[in-house]
Amino acid sequence: MQRKLIASLLGVALSSAAPAVVYAAGVTDAMIAKDATNPGSVLSWGMGTQGQRFSPLTQINTKTVSKLVPAWSFSFGGEKQRGQESQPLIYNGKMFVTGSYSRIYAVDMKTGSKLWKYEHRLPDGIMPCCDVVNRGAALYDNLVIFGTLDAQLIALDQDTGKIVWKEKVDDYAAGYSMSAAPLIAKGLLLTGVSGGEFGVVGRVEARDPKTGQLVWSRPMIEGHMGYKYDKDGKATENGITGTTNKSWPGDLWKTGGGATWLGGTYDPTTGLAYFGTGNPAPWNSHLRPGDNLYSASTVALDIDSGQIKWSYQTTPHDGWDYDGVNEFVTFDMDGKRMGGKADRNGFFYVIDAKDGKLQNAFPFVNKITWASGIDLKTGRPKFLDKGRPGDPTKGEEGKKGATVFAAPAFLGAKNQMPMAYNPQTKLFYVPANEWGMDIWNEPVSYKKGGAFLGAGFTIHPLNEDYIGAMRAVDPKTGKIVWEIKNNAPLWGGVMTTAGGLVFYGTPEGFLKAVDAKSGKELWKFQTGSGVVAPPVTWKDGDTQYVAVVSGWGGAVPLWGGEVAKKVNFLEQGGSVWVFKLAK
Ligand code: CA
Repeated sequence: MQRKLIASLLGVALSSAAPAVVYAAGVTDAMIAKDATNPGSVLSWGMGTQGQRFSPLTQINTKTVSKLVPAWSFSFGGEKQRGQESQPLIYNGKMFVTGSYSRIYAVDMKTGSKLWKYEHRLPDGIMPCCDVVNRGAALYDNLVIFGTLDAQLIALDQDTGKIVWKEKVDDYAAGYSMSAAPLIAKGLLLTGVSGGEFGVVGRVEARDPKTGQLVWSRPMIEGHMGYKYDKDGKATENGITGTTNKSWPGDLWKTGGGATWLGGTYDPTTGLAYFGTGNPAPWNSHLRPGDNLYSASTVALDIDSGQIKWSYQTTPHDGWDYDGVNEFVTFDMDGKRMGGKADRNGFFYVIDAKDGKLQNAFPFVNKITWASGIDLKTGRPKFLDKGRPGDPTKGEEGKKGATVFAAPAFLGAKNQMPMAYNPQTKLFYVPANEWGMDIWNEPVSYKKGGAFLGAGFTIHPLNEDYIGAMRAVDPKTGKIVWEIKNNAPLWGGVMTTAGGLVFYGTPEGFLKAVDAKSGKELWKFQTGSGVVAPPVTWKDGDTQYVAVVSGWGGAVPLWGGEVAKKVNFLEQGGSVWVFKLAK
């Protein structure tokens, strides 16, 4: 009895008479595959590679959540704060959490004491478009791995914080950077790149997570070559992506954007990784006729070969910076594996995860000016021509093209903040924003390291009383089941639990828990700065914990125009909070 108890406390199976030796075993593929259902740890961005952000835990539930109190809080310190968009990871008694300016901390999960910190030395001249954020790390074996603002991957020893390997992904002086959490699936480290506003070329890379050695790379803009790499790092060509000039006449595909800046998800039942791609570059769409594949798309990659299995373009020939990077979250609907995507362009898409066929598409915001809907037969948007900013060569306003008012604003009906899916309520919980923009096009030419937009803009709120709207979305009917309005734009992610709860944060500083069925607010806590990061939950011993990072910033204060002015009273910060039920 005693031995059994100790063994179960240690998490060791009692399979033989040999003395139980407890190794600080590393994170394995099998553990990552079970991340969504094993509540003892949080090993991946998305709380499972499918990205559902659903926890089976029930100790904190609709009845008990009112007793949720802080267990500890940890400050990221430093003079520089800015946006904190990171999702913590939990493993082996430690929390691994990244901060702004490419910092990462290991914290004792029980006490909140700092175990180590790694602060990446950033060069002058990094070019993050949208604040100095980082969204989280990945765990593999004894390593914790994250991307930096100067486009490097850093792998650290989980126990010591010492660098084990380091790889340069690309040239920061050309506008490349990294802000997404890496994805680990089937023994591969899968990463994207940021920099779509500087004419980079988006791609997905697969590496050996233990060494950083490249396995394959797959560009996301038609015309570019993919590569496979052998053990010595020697590259062999692995096929051109698409057909050169098919959807990109001329030369602009060479600097075509399609940045994979939010990373990806992976579904073991399809064997596919799903990466979203950003805007085609430049923003001025009149310079690049055609669909501009595979920009503003979801791209499904066979992770063994790195080949594109299917793609679905949410905004063909984008002219509004409607990056299609939003996470593709797989789930079951009518016995089939689907993917849900709340796109920056204002439409929610339900797509067959296996073959990319569109099943359903409907608006999840109230005002959309660029298309009247999505044709479910062809999968293409029904464009509203008046919604596109005018051609500057037509010179309606001097060197500027005609200004149009467009909604959603380019910061999106949804941006980087990940949604959650609850298989019990069968609802997606989507942090949406209602805003629009004046946008116009200008002439532009590519210059390495320069902004490559050819557009000007000012964002405006659409309503007096709110911009953000936390919405429960039924993927089958397209109905909004409930919504909670929020004064400031929502910019944090969402988590849902088998305790019947939805957790999300607000720029006003609150972490909130609401009833997953009704949207009724059941609990809130003021974290001291704006929450622009997704919460997580796990169980240690018999206690369920909830954690969220706090620290206002991100793209809104930098690019939000009239909206930025409206929320300029919000204070910066940088900390992580952990909660549990009061005894
Ligand atoms: Ca963009």
